[in-house]
Amino acid sequence: MTQDTNHQDPDYKDPLRDFHPSTAVIHAGYRARLSENAVKPPVFRTSTFEFSCAAEGAMFFQRAYHLAGDDGQDLGLVYSRLNNPNTEIFEDKMVALEAGATHAAAFPSGMSAITTAILALVPQGGRILYSDPVYGGTYFFLKHLCPERFGITTCCVDTSDLAHTEQMLQTHSPFDMVFLETPANPTLILTDIEAITTLVRRHGGLRTIIAVDNTFLGPVFQRPFLHGADLVLYSATKFIGGHSDVLAGIALTTSAALMRPMLDYRTILGATIAPDTAWMLTRSIETLWIRMERQAEKAMKIATALQHHPKIARIRFPGLLTPSDGAAYATYTTQCSGPGSVMSFDVKDGTCDSAYRVLDAVHLCHLAVSLGGTEALIEHPRSMTHSDMTREDLDRCGITEAMIRLSVGLESSDDVIQDLYQALEKA
Ligand code: PLP
Repeated sequence: MTQDTNHQDPDYKDPLRDFHPSTAVIHAGYRARLSENAVKPPVFRTSTFEFSCAAEGAMFFQRAYHLAGDDGQDLGLVYSRLNNPNTEIFEDKMVALEAGATHAAAFPSGMSAITTAILALVPQGGRILYSDPVYGGTYFFLKHLCPERFGITTCCVDTSDLAHTEQMLQTHSPFDMVFLETPANPTLILTDIEAITTLVRRHGGLRTIIAVDNTFLGPVFQRPFLHGADLVLYSATKFIGGHSDVLAGIALTTSAALMRPMLDYRTILGATIAPDTAWMLTRSIETLWIRMERQAEKAMKIATALQHHPKIARIRFPGLLTPSDGAAYATYTTQCSGPGSVMSFDVKDGTCDSAYRVLDAVHLCHLAVSLGGTEALIEHPRSMTHSDMTREDLDRCGITEAMIRLSVGLESSDDVIQDLYQALEKA
């Protein structure tokens, strides 16, 4: 954070790279000495910051707007649309959590992180290849707004199918960005990030930015930078916030060069996270590791209990993959260190009506979109989170009328299983 300009200070504790990320995140990014020795950061609820003299103000603006080139110095606190101590504490903690990351930028929502990153990094007339499917909002931006409003050509491919992806790359490369969401929302399809990166580079994409939306598995279970990604994006509304009480997003990179345009666009588009939100996220991510591990354990029990249920046709959950699943299993075992806690399943009779009957019958699970909170959330992707997809695209991706998506929280898995069993009786 900007407070940490003097790295000679013996109290300086960042980036704590020698520690496990679950340790580093608790200590990184904040120095009590700068805030009346408060062990936890206060909320810096201010829109602007006082300069010590006019020359300092001018220098901070020169740095913010790169007027005299990059002198490598921290920006200095200027105005909360550019930076704020709470935002920077959150960002530095995320850098400590995400293996391989060096820079982070927080945003007021996941969609804001995704759209700002794309607008900042893909030129007008540029080209994006994206994995199929992706979250409905991302789909809408890539499928409609990019080509129709920003002159960016986009196309999609099932990136879990390497042969098909290679054909696409052979015909259409080079791309400015390859955007991957893995596991995919809501089908839980896995993409092999390293294999795709190799293919992209082989087919002339040496400068192609490999972006990964890592919302479902988080820094706990999947480390995209270690598999070749250049940019990692999150809806921090989900596991990072973890309590379904904030909206936020974050973008991480391994270089200042990639981060700089995103920061410039964030400032000018005004895509600024509030200090209170950043503070809440700072509090939440101290427990991210333990929450995600516990949620994954519970999800594994629930998925196992549902797997052979007579009213369920198909369940998709990375933790249930076996060697008979071939490439998907290989990707899971080499790329992921845990299954996460989101799953989807199809109700057996295949109709929307029976899926709705199950959704209407749950007592404990909340019938609500979103995921990654402490409470179980259940929804119908085809008519809710992914309803902005065309019928043809929904069918192609296997987002069926009968599909239900479940995000497992921290309730007792037995209670959730009982709730789902009684609801499935109504299917
Ligand atoms: N990425 C994924 C995988 C998501 O599931 C979502 C939202 O559900 C988003 C991005 C968008 O995040 P937000 O709702 O915070 O804008």
